[in-house]
Amino acid sequence: MREGDTVARIGGDEFVILLNDLRNKIDVSMVSRKIIERFSSPFMLNDQEYFISTSIGASIYPGDGEDALTLLKNADSAMYKAKAAGRNNFQLYSPAMNEQASEQLMLETELRRALEREELRLYFQPQVSLVTGEIVGMEALLRWERPGQGIVPPNRFLPLAEESGLILPIGERVMETAARQNKAWQDEGLPPIQMAVNIAHRQFQQQDLTRLVGKVLCDTGLEPRWLELELTEGIFVTDTDKAVRIIGELKNIGVKLSIDDFGTGYSSLSYLKRFAVDTLKIDRSFIMGIPQDEDDVAITLAIISMAQSLRLSLVAEGVETPAQMDFLRQAGCTSMQGYLFSRPVPAEEMGAMR
Ligand code: C2E
Ligand code: MG
Ligand code: MG
Repeated sequence: MREGDTVARIGGDEFVILLNDLRNKIDVSMVSRKIIERFSSPFMLNDQEYFISTSIGASIYPGDGEDALTLLKNADSAMYKAKAAGRNNFQLYSPAMNEQASEQLMLETELRRALEREELRLYFQPQVSLVTGEIVGMEALLRWERPGQGIVPPNRFLPLAEESGLILPIGERVMETAARQNKAWQDEGLPPIQMAVNIAHRQFQQQDLTRLVGKVLCDTGLEPRWLELELTEGIFVTDTDKAVRIIGELKNIGVKLSIDDFGTGYSSLSYLKRFAVDTLKIDRSFIMGIPQDEDDVAITLAIISMAQSLRLSLVAEGVETPAQMDFLRQAGCTSMQGYLFSRPVPAEEMGAMR
């Protein structure tokens, strides 16, 4: 910052920067860009690398507010917009944002209600062996059956659920329901297979996952090995020691662990050595380019061969065409999940498919 600028921490992870005597809006975005750039390289603390993302929202006196409170409130709206745009972003305030903010608030209220009214439903997508063609597992995927609005996909409400903390009760419900359903199928005499549930970053950070998993297994009677938790690469970066501990505890219980969207997060491969995960799920963005895109082909082959040498299982995500399937089979990938075999379907349909 320049001499004369003010930087203040107003609470938690929120900071306010006061820039005096700016000539124009361009200056604000320049300063913001500079700050974001500074945060793009990791911080070293006790020989550990820490990655921090920054989201910046700005309001300008007097157009965006004539008093401090209004300016702060509007900068805050802009900051949420920046966050929603995918972190490490900068946004200038615009009046439309207040409208959006109240829409968000409404959505949050409704989501809370949806949880109580059980409008959140689990769909299931099969995972298929590329060797035998059999269904070897499935993933539980959340849907919001919102009255009058049809089926709302998770990317429309999960970011908000994560932001507001609602993901914690939602995540508990998901794990419990998925485990119960898997046990019910076993009790009906279907061959036992793994049920994967997605774990949000915030659940990993804030929920006592070990306790939750233990409770769910105990309540439902499902054997640990039939439950799989899908983690994202992000958790290995933000709090490595804690992640090592929790993953150790989960492995002790006996549940399976996989890394979702593999290859799209922080590509530090060293964590594969430190964390005893079972499965890598190759991200759909790589599968999409197969077989025509050379880079996607190269990356996918590299992931497959790495998984083989580390003795990890593999699932290719988002397989839509026979050409993709053939390629993956030939390359030695052992299973796949995607529209080619089946979209995510309600429990009844999944039961009938098996
Ligand atoms: P994900 O865990 O990577 O799940 C795979 C997504 O890819 C699903 O989207 C699935 O419907 C979609 N997909 C599968 N095969 C294909 C295909 O062949 N083509 C295309 N175009 N898409 C395919 P969905 O159900 O919309 O879920 C999106 C994301 O939302 C999930 O990505 C996951 O990160 C998150 N999510 C879903 N349910 C939950 C949940 O219960 N808890 C948490 N924390 N996250 C969830
Ligand atoms: Mg997943
Ligand atoms: Mg995925």
